[in-house]
Amino acid sequence: MTAIAETGYSYISDHLFVNFLNTINGADSQVTDLLMQEAGTYKWLELMYSRELLNAEQLKKLKEETFDEDAIRDFRDRGREYVLEGKHPEFISSLTGNVKQAPLYFDKHLNPVPGCGGSPGLLSLLSYKMLEAYKDNIFSRIKKCHSPACYALFVDYSGRRKWCSMEICGNRTKARKHYAKKKE
Ligand SMILES: [Zn+2]
Repeated sequence: MTAIAETGYSYISDHLFVNFLNTINGADSQVTDLLMQEAGTYKWLELMYSRELLNAEQLKKLKEETFDEDAIRDFRDRGREYVLEGKHPEFISSLTGNVKQAPLYFDKHLNPVPGCGGSPGLLSLLSYKMLEAYKDNIFSRIKKCHSPACYALFVDYSGRRKWCSMEICGNRTKARKHYAKKKE
């Protein structure tokens, strides 16, 4: 398994769509858009496959066609703004539109597989997952990491979680506070 630091992500969520929203991140006021990097979408798909958040059939199907990076990034940015700030109220109904545009079928384990690859297939699969999460009231539990330098989103099931990753952002914040206290 790839070490988390090498992936460019501060942690990996159990939700495929949360990891997708986390393809943009910031640290020390520098923003990294992982989809803008060379073969960024393919790398993200491979990472999701390695973490068993995509299966072989889903991955194979998605890679059959090329990706329109602008369309994918636009979807991600609108998704983040909807989840975090309630902007773009039409975002939810656009999800249904994305699924209709590239209908899904279900494999023998009842996993949704897009009928075509490339951007329409990817947006359809992500939209389906987001609609599921929306219905399960997961959207209202999505929070941004408390570390000001970190853009990562996570699902807060306990209502008390502060950091995307205790190891990375939790310790970083604690160390900074400890140092500030010592200085006084
Ligand atoms: Zn974080």
